[in-house]
Amino acid sequence: MLLQVALPVPLYRVFDYSLPANMSPLPNGASPHIPPIGSRVEVPFGRQTLIGIVVAHIVAADSGVPLNKLKPINKCLDAEPILDASMLKLAQWLARYYHYPLGDVLAVMLPTLVRQGKPLDLLITHWRVLPHASDGDFRANAKKQKQQFDILKLHGERGASEDILLLEGMQRSFLRGLEEKGLIERYIQNKQAPAPFKVATMPLDLNDEQQLAVTAIIAAHEANRYTGFLLNGITGSGKTEVYLQTMQAVLEAGKQVLILVPEIGLTPQTRARFASRFAAHIVLLHSGMNNTHRLQGWQDCRTGHAQIIIGTRSAVLYPFADLGLIVVDEAHDGSYKQQDTLRYHAADVALYRGLQANIPVVLGTATPSLEHLKLVNDGKLIECQLLTRPGNAKPATMQLIDARLQSTHQRTTDDGARYDTGLTDALIGAIRQTLEAGDQVLIFLNRRGYAPVLLCEACGWQADCPRCDAHLTVHYNSQSQYNSYLKCHHCDWQAYIPTTCPDCGSQNLDAKGIGTTRLSENLHAIFANPQTSKELYPIIQIDRDTTRRKDSWENIYQRINQGNPAILVGTQMVAKGHHFPNVTLVCLPNADRGFLSADFRSPEHTAQLMIQVAGRAGRGDKSGRVLIQTLQPDNELLLKLVKDGYLSFARELLQERKMMGLPPHSYAALIRCEGKTLATTTQALKDAIAILPNGHNLAVLGPIDAPMSKKNSRYYVQLLLLGKDRQQLHRVLSQWWQPVLALPSTKYLKLTLDIDPIGW
Ligand code: ADP
Ligand code: ZN
Ligand code: ZN
Repeated sequence: MLLQVALPVPLYRVFDYSLPANMSPLPNGASPHIPPIGSRVEVPFGRQTLIGIVVAHIVAADSGVPLNKLKPINKCLDAEPILDASMLKLAQWLARYYHYPLGDVLAVMLPTLVRQGKPLDLLITHWRVLPHASDGDFRANAKKQKQQFDILKLHGERGASEDILLLEGMQRSFLRGLEEKGLIERYIQNKQAPAPFKVATMPLDLNDEQQLAVTAIIAAHEANRYTGFLLNGITGSGKTEVYLQTMQAVLEAGKQVLILVPEIGLTPQTRARFASRFAAHIVLLHSGMNNTHRLQGWQDCRTGHAQIIIGTRSAVLYPFADLGLIVVDEAHDGSYKQQDTLRYHAADVALYRGLQANIPVVLGTATPSLEHLKLVNDGKLIECQLLTRPGNAKPATMQLIDARLQSTHQRTTDDGARYDTGLTDALIGAIRQTLEAGDQVLIFLNRRGYAPVLLCEACGWQADCPRCDAHLTVHYNSQSQYNSYLKCHHCDWQAYIPTTCPDCGSQNLDAKGIGTTRLSENLHAIFANPQTSKELYPIIQIDRDTTRRKDSWENIYQRINQGNPAILVGTQMVAKGHHFPNVTLVCLPNADRGFLSADFRSPEHTAQLMIQVAGRAGRGDKSGRVLIQTLQPDNELLLKLVKDGYLSFARELLQERKMMGLPPHSYAALIRCEGKTLATTTQALKDAIAILPNGHNLAVLGPIDAPMSKKNSRYYVQLLLLGKDRQQLHRVLSQWWQPVLALPSTKYLKLTLDIDPIGW
């Protein structure tokens, strides 16, 4: 008997190991046996020691390696499998579909501490005082021991986790000492059944559209049948209530529910909404957790202790004891696509897992991606539409402002220079009116910092990043010189703002364009009290610079939710499902620019962003208004979007893609090559093209420079393969990709393969 082991090495194969002649006892003290499939083993690998997962038991005759060359494993780390057959199947599917080594796939799927071989249970060990233990059990001179005992005693009959106790100053040696004396005991929290789930507040009365959706999803759940749903509901149409009422049926059946959200900032908000409806064990999973909490969350999911799991992208790779429903909220969002290592799309993985587990999967969004609309057309997703907002709330009205006709508001700075604020008088008038009516305004500008470019008016020099193919962003603070600097948003390179042009010596340097900081400053100048220049309305900036700190979102929410008139200035962060009930006016001063971009996906993504931002208006009782300021009011795409709405806009784009043979009407793989020079990277991709199998029947585009061809002093060149059908593309890739990695010219370069890329 031999073991086949997947190891975290970038090689497309598994490794055979034998069993040691006399195996040491298992961690739980049981007599040694063969490490089960799905358990961890420690093995020698070259001069290293690695931890891998047993993926198969084979007989010696089936191994390609002669018996005397095989090495035995060092030890077996688990008595039971940590991944069951369905998780291994998921890993194998991911490896096949994304053409990524199985061992590396497993490394992405497992929490760090599991990967490091830590015992699963040790970290969630709880301790409690035994009922018979009393102060009389301590001798007078055992002061320290008594003191440690008291720390635990404070936690009552349920005790506390070892983690917490160590933080509170208890020591492991004393825990063990007290255990030996029979005064305290350890227990594994997960062995306890979760508290029964209860509905804490009354569900709302559904409208007809919501009812249809809930009935359909629950029917799939009750029939134990995989069904993918596209819950296509306009912003504010009550998608969450649909989630809540389907969740209730699934939770009552004793099953778990996984909710994916696009961004870590949304997890607390989502949790609050679910926790107010259900008394259940809710677990949050996101990148902000430390390793111990991640392992704890992983265990909670795996043992079934967690009933509702709210997580970002990677939660879709967790093991679940008994999953009954997956919801992907804002399913169109680009953050569901992992952009390095294993480049998976969480919505696609969610659908696969639904199929695997025979459960419904709900993709909810107001702006479905063209991929998902095509799946509806192909009969692979069932569409449920919510076209109205419940109660009195009306969808916001949209209106274009022609920036060519309207004079743009000028501003004079302290030193007498005049420049454009980028806001037309019409927009400023509408903002003033809204504030005076006591409401809030949201202005969307997808560019943080002060200005995107620093330009010499005399010679045309621009401040560029020395390491990237990009301008440096001006971060300027009129109050503080130390907070004024140039920064590259791609590699974080920083420099002082020069006072004279490095090329011609002119002092005529000018910050061009407007970022959120400058817009906030302009708004302050426009709306402050003209006599005292004191702020009349708070201006709240929401971007990566202002939300970096841990509690900053909470503070921002608090300020907004006081409900006083205010101006919110935000980047695309504000587009993601946030609820600002007092915003009645949304302004998009230049969001339509994306309709002119060279990337064929840009119109789709621009429209999604515009509609999502617009959806922040009028979510309370008052109706909302959206103003789109544009220099191209005749742009057909823009007019279509504003007049006919997102769905007909998207259907037209889909038709266009079909005619042009672009995804989702074809299937793409993007190969990127990264290296120290443009020449070697380009040559490597040329060599790769040369070994494409004959008759591959794919469209080959490239090698061409990547959209950002130089980043952090590295060069990027790419190659795009397009196939008319998926199988054909994957057949070619499975023959071709591994030989490409073995080419001599790719040896010192980094090559990556991106299946179903979302940008190129
Ligand atoms: P979405 O997620 O679709 O943008 P929400 O789920 O946030 O929309 O719902 C918008 C508002 O409508 C919320 O305040 C919600 O409580 C309310 N709502 C949802 N369904 C109903 C209903 N059936 N009756 C009354 N109010 C509802
Ligand atoms: Zn110059
Ligand atoms: Zn840079």
